[in-house]
Amino acid sequence: MNAALSRFVGFAFASADLLIEIAPDGRIAFAAGAAEALSGSPDAQLVGRPWSDFIDDYDRAMAEALFRGLKDGLRGGPVVVRLAGDAGQAERAAALSVFRLPQNEGAISCALTRAAPPPRTAALGLHSKDSFEQVTATLFESAKTTGLELELALVELSGLTSVRGGQGDMDQELAGLLRAHSHGGSAAAELGEDRFALVRPRGESPDGLARRLLRMLGVAEDTVTPAGQAMSLTGEASPNQVIRAIRYAVDSFIADGLDAAVPASLSQAVTDSVRRTAMEVGALGQALADKQFRLVYQPVVNLKAGGAVHHHEVLVRFGQDESPFPMIRMAEELDLIESLDLAVAEQSIAKLVATPGLKLAVNMSGRTAQSGSFVAKVALMIAGSPAVRGRLLFELTESAAITDMPMAQANLQLLREEGCKICLDDFGAGAASLAYVQQLPLDFVKIDGRYIKELQHGGRETTFIRHLVRMCAELGVGTVAEMVETKPAEQAVRQAGVDLAQGYLYGAPSDEPARIEARAPAIRPGLKRAG
Ligand code: C2E
Ligand code: MG
Ligand code: MG
Repeated sequence: MNAALSRFVGFAFASADLLIEIAPDGRIAFAAGAAEALSGSPDAQLVGRPWSDFIDDYDRAMAEALFRGLKDGLRGGPVVVRLAGDAGQAERAAALSVFRLPQNEGAISCALTRAAPPPRTAALGLHSKDSFEQVTATLFESAKTTGLELELALVELSGLTSVRGGQGDMDQELAGLLRAHSHGGSAAAELGEDRFALVRPRGESPDGLARRLLRMLGVAEDTVTPAGQAMSLTGEASPNQVIRAIRYAVDSFIADGLDAAVPASLSQAVTDSVRRTAMEVGALGQALADKQFRLVYQPVVNLKAGGAVHHHEVLVRFGQDESPFPMIRMAEELDLIESLDLAVAEQSIAKLVATPGLKLAVNMSGRTAQSGSFVAKVALMIAGSPAVRGRLLFELTESAAITDMPMAQANLQLLREEGCKICLDDFGAGAASLAYVQQLPLDFVKIDGRYIKELQHGGRETTFIRHLVRMCAELGVGTVAEMVETKPAEQAVRQAGVDLAQGYLYGAPSDEPARIEARAPAIRPGLKRAG
């Protein structure tokens, strides 16, 4: 090697463990360095093989996008790629930077440095909303120390979904493209129809990025409209503010696309999100204080007592008839759910006092279940109206996860000691359902409506429900089926051994409870009865 050449080789290895050149035909033309340690094959064996053999399936579309987007004199990456290896081997990964030197006639120079493989995600290497927000927050923090100028780029390709029409190849190509443009190759997300987000170094305008993505997908601009905006990840904020601000920007984008004003910087997003939260807390808090909601009642029948009404579920309504679910989620986010649940419990108890024979089920958020003050206040109300003892049931919803299990266990047990029954709502809808059944003191489990709706089509739901009923019987827990809309659905849940049922078949939620069976036989969960 002549002296000039050795000098450049020295420079190259100063920042890389392995150097590879990819010829225009896609084959590896040259390899030098720690090939064995990185790829498991010595450098001589890499030469002549297609580059795609060298990179794991999972990251191939991203590497492909990185190579395709490269122009003479330009650099790409670094992105972290997993290297192909034998099954059973520990995963090996490297940060890959690429460069196309004009004099090299289209060959691509690659420098690889050993790196830790980032966690795999479910959707072709793209993040879900939640994990993307976390990754963005982490990158914001690390950029403060590295000095990297990063931005959150929001990209809308309106009309893409209809053009794509669920073509698997196109999905993979798009995911690869988004990742190749994101910081480190693993900071991109699909946020709903035609909406994408990525964290990337500041530079090219976000509109330019959107247009380039479209071009690389081979889609014409007259069928799909590309647009982009960016929020710079700069400013001072506490970790809590950072995640809220990022969520604010992402949520606004998901809800309103780029019509929503995208904050220019993270500091701006902090200000905007605080302002919005204050308004929302104010409005919702006021609505609760003024009791601007009403209650509706839906019958739950006893399948094992000829369909007699067993109790009614209380559902809250803020407007006319629309679902309260968005408000419930907001109340959970804003820490107002306990006040709501308490207000509903209070009014339900008043209803019980006014209506002898009535039994009510009140929904309670997982968050509320972890609050000692809720239970104490309910106990006081029951003590003040002893006639309601034994007529109140709480449905624990799973929309907010339980993080303090011992606290929830103790609270639910206290409610039972006050004569209340506990039902786990929406069983099977959340990831934690099984753990909850094992760990919480329960009297009933309500099987999530989606399984019941699927029932009519036969299939695996029937088996699932039958097993669930058997498990609950062993634990001494009763079962409820919700969203029973048709006779065949009723027939199916009855055959599976479910105790109680609720749904439009028996009655929609209404302003007054349906007829009340004052002396319906008590059901004893889990015990087989004749008839
Ligand atoms: P959930 O407790 O699982 O309530 C059942 C939901 O299914 C209700 O929707 C009800 O109107 C609806 N539904 C009942 N029968 C049928 C049917 O046959 N078919 C179909 N398609 N739907 C049926 P709603 O009232 O919109 O409530 C949505 C969720 O909001 C509730 O789900 C519950 O998680 C929450 N929620 C409602 N009221 C309260 C409350 O006071 N406190 C809390 N924490 N959550 C509440
Ligand atoms: Mg419920
Ligand atoms: Mg439910």
